[in-house]
Amino acid sequence: MKCRVCRARAVIDLPRHNAAFCPPCFDSYLMDQVWKAIDEFQMFTKTERILLAVSGGKDSLALWDILDRLGYQTIGYHLDLGIGEYSVDSLEKTRQFAQKKNLTLHIEEITREAGGSVADISEVTNRPPCSACGVSKRHLFNRAAKTHGCQVVATGHNLDDEASRLLGNILHWQDGYLEKQNPALPDDGGLVRKVKPLNRLTEKEMAAYSFLNGIDYVVHECPMSVNAKQLFYKKIMNLLEKESPGTKQAFYFGFLDRRNRFYPEKEPGEAPPFNCQLCEAPSYSEICSFCRLRIKVTSPQEKPSRTKKKSSSSSSRV
Ligand code: SF4
Ligand SMILES: [Zn+2]
Ligand SMILES: [Zn+2]
Repeated sequence: MKCRVCRARAVIDLPRHNAAFCPPCFDSYLMDQVWKAIDEFQMFTKTERILLAVSGGKDSLALWDILDRLGYQTIGYHLDLGIGEYSVDSLEKTRQFAQKKNLTLHIEEITREAGGSVADISEVTNRPPCSACGVSKRHLFNRAAKTHGCQVVATGHNLDDEASRLLGNILHWQDGYLEKQNPALPDDGGLVRKVKPLNRLTEKEMAAYSFLNGIDYVVHECPMSVNAKQLFYKKIMNLLEKESPGTKQAFYFGFLDRRNRFYPEKEPGEAPPFNCQLCEAPSYSEICSFCRLRIKVTSPQEKPSRTKKKSSSSSSRV
């Protein structure tokens, strides 16, 4: 197998592009794909500060590495979800990476911020774990961006994540979610801009980048995702891709090309009418949804037997 560009020995085969690459040409290809995503959706500029949500997995660590190499100003933010060994490993890998690269990292614990772990929140609020996790992340990422003077929050969602999410949203005609399925969401009503610079790259490509660049990441999936429908949709997309390489990208990019026909671009939304009485975040009610969740989780009437992790600081820096 030879590199499509320089004819040296190739190390990665990308059937969706009918191409194989040697390590240096794969690196150029991958950096180019990230740059294209940033440019096409005007995600951010070199004068802006980017809060990068880093989980400790391959995608977010690799994205941090790439944005740093491209000369962007990044600040890492890790939210410890309190999910046993998985969270311990995730924090450790994130810390090690930041230290090795001398990058700024802020850490917060969901147990301290929301009053309980993802499992606790899920149990008390009767939400599925990923929904409980999502509400908390949205609020805390946004708060962290504002606290650290960042104009944008970047996450490591890749093409596989986005295509499987699109499949799920279409199967259930989730118009609200489809409307928001865009790799760049503008700042809107007090929420800072949100971007996904890896939307052109697959999981396999991100794993190869991490391997070739010596990035040590948490390999196992979050245990809460075991029953997540998203994994099932990923399997379906992978089967389709195996039968017909290029299907995943045609499906997802085809949607993005047509998106405005179905969901025309709106004028930037007005700020929500309230500021939460407890945390001052912009809110559609007097108390924001995150504070309502925290009140419920910490209420003495709710699950008094829940174990609560003790913590000495809410934010630390590596
Ligand atoms: S799988 Fe669910 S619980 Fe785990 S990190 Fe993702 S959203 Fe959170
Ligand atoms: Zn080459
Ligand atoms: Zn609030």
